Amino acid sequence: MTEQERKALAKLVTEPPKFNEPMRHHTTLRVGGPADALVTVHTLDELQKVVQFALERGLPILVLGEGSNLIVKDGGIRGIVLRLSGELTRINFDTQEIEVGGGTYLPHLLVKAAQRGLSGLECCTGVPGTVGGALISNAGTAEEFIGGKVTRVTVLTHEGILRTVEKDELRFSYRSSNLKELGLVIVSAVFNLSRDEPKAIMERIHRRWRYRWETQPVNMPCAGCIFKNPPGDRAGRLLDAAGLKGVRIGDAQVSTVHANFIVNLGNAKAKDVLALAELMRETVKAKFGITLEYEVQIVGEDE
Ligand SMILES: Cc1cc2nc3c(=O)[nH]c(=O)nc-3n(C[C@H](O)[C@H](O)[C@H](O)COP(=O)(O)OP(=O)(O)OC[C@H]3O[C@@H](n4cnc5c(N)ncnc54)[C@H](O)[C@@H]3O)c2cc1C
Repeated sequence: MTEQERKALAKLVTEPPKFNEPMRHHTTLRVGGPADALVTVHTLDELQKVVQFALERGLPILVLGEGSNLIVKDGGIRGIVLRLSGELTRINFDTQEIEVGGGTYLPHLLVKAAQRGLSGLECCTGVPGTVGGALISNAGTAEEFIGGKVTRVTVLTHEGILRTVEKDELRFSYRSSNLKELGLVIVSAVFNLSRDEPKAIMERIHRRWRYRWETQPVNMPCAGCIFKNPPGDRAGRLLDAAGLKGVRIGDAQVSTVHANFIVNLGNAKAKDVLALAELMRETVKAKFGITLEYEVQIVGEDE
């Protein structure tokens, strides 16, 4: 990005963009090289202006949620990394159909909905991402997903046009959706939730939380499950049976708590994480003949 482009970009937004910003500060695994520009937009108007600016100059855009499903390579990201804030994180509770900004932090949404006696998103308990990130990968458990509760999604298309996509056009399956094709940015989503006692909903959330604390390395830097479950089995079970728990490359380690998680012991680089992930895949392939598919998204450039 040229100096001129940097100056022009800064004029479009109220919060000063961060240039050459290390992405390890913005991913839950704490790895990733510098983004050319990290731009936080607080309004729909700012978002549209920045997207238009990028489209006119052919600058790539990556929308960042909480970075909880990302491995950003050590060479970082060229172009603009876009983060949604302010009015793009609002929750509108006017009816049982709630409208939520794409940048809304899911754990916050779950608690707010529970307090108002609205149930249906408990499958996302402990998913430390945003509504936009969760919709892209249809986050949830192995059995229940966020996509099941959505009635419509408003996106900014790859051409920069605001468009509302109705439920019948949305496709959700296990850790997958068609939203990347439908839009560049998930601006907001409407969920249809059901009524229940706030206390009962909070109890369900707490129960799921306890289970996570017992079975996952939630207090360590990680990016959730590295691989999707193959049909009829669990990636964690296969990786554990292959003897991979505790295996290390640099400061990247296969969690000793859950074999489908890689944790950062302190100074892991993305190249360590990726080498370890490939070792995990190759070992499972050699032992069980099953090729694991990545659940985390790998973005950016090599160093
Ligand atoms: C401890 C831990 C536990 C986890 N447990 C689970 C779990 O149980 N189930 C589960 O499904 N996942 C789980 N995850 C993974 C992760 O939290 C989810 O995939 C989450 O939905 C990612 O959201 P995010 O906002 O962090 O997205 P990011 O990681 O920031 O981005 C992921 C993708 O979504 C895109 N994206 C993000 N926001 C937008 C937007 N507004 N518009 C367009 N594109 C966007 C990004 O460009 C990227 O392609 C876990 C992760 C951790 C660290």
